[in-house]
Amino acid sequence: MVAVPVTPRLYRHPHGISAVDAEYLYPGHAAAHIIEDGGRAAFVDVGTNFSVPYLLAALAELGIAPEAVDYVLLTHVHLDHAGGAGALLESLPNARALVHPRGAPHMIDPQKLIAGSKVVYGAERFARLYGELVPIPAERVAVVADGERVKLGARTLELLHTPGHALHHYVVVDAAHSSIFAGDTFGISYRALDTARGAFIFPTTPPTQFDPAQLIASIDRMLSFRPESIYLMHFSRVTGVPQLGESLKARVRELAAIAGAHREDADPALGIRADLQRAWLAAAHEHGCRQSAAELARFLAGDLDLNTQGLMVWLQREKRA
Ligand SMILES: [Zn+2]
Repeated sequence: MVAVPVTPRLYRHPHGISAVDAEYLYPGHAAAHIIEDGGRAAFVDVGTNFSVPYLLAALAELGIAPEAVDYVLLTHVHLDHAGGAGALLESLPNARALVHPRGAPHMIDPQKLIAGSKVVYGAERFARLYGELVPIPAERVAVVADGERVKLGARTLELLHTPGHALHHYVVVDAAHSSIFAGDTFGISYRALDTARGAFIFPTTPPTQFDPAQLIASIDRMLSFRPESIYLMHFSRVTGVPQLGESLKARVRELAAIAGAHREDADPALGIRADLQRAWLAAAHEHGCRQSAAELARFLAGDLDLNTQGLMVWLQREKRA
């Protein structure tokens, strides 16, 4: 691969933590994180194949040699988080990918993942968003148990299985620095929607494993650590965690209620999306977001679509149960 020089959008946070924009969809949408301790480093989530040059440029800007990266922690195997892992590992000679037991087979042989994602995105959009997935050699994948601890330099990271967004999800707890890397389990909070009241947060419920009860339990499990900061893939650091946690759980319940209300509709997706958009726009307005209703509807359209699709799958699963 010929390296094209790129300029990473790098955000430096406390405690040796940095975020680099994965340049997925648009700037400010997805952040990969780099943790550095005692000359060793780890990535938490990586974005797609197209993110890899930005991640390597970020390492260079931070003065971290590729050889110093011990881990690529993949919170889950959704492709905006893990799609670039195989390609990235080719440039990190000492790193292993740490993956949930349910996700690991799909990183080694991504065929099912590709097929599943094509159902959600369509073949053409899939190619544009994710390119050709590079399988990770099995010997470079380590499966993580719930509660497993890994050492990075002098710090200990604890990995917790957190179903709800996906069954193959774990989060990374850095208790000594009162930080948790949440992947998608603690929802989405775009910095563009920050106001004087703080961050605006909402759950992400794409197909196919959203489960409201599991998600609320996983959020509570994270809150029990009383973290000062939570690092989200979409988009990076949030503080004021107790309040955000309550708001997020309320929105999970709201999503489930909206889906339930349209269960018997001829076309539930239509009603779900409309109600969801109405609820989010009202909440964003109340939060003091400066964007107009039309701007917000456009800005949130992708998340509204994905959440609606995931709620539809959840309703169908509930029906079968
Ligand atoms: Zn996800």
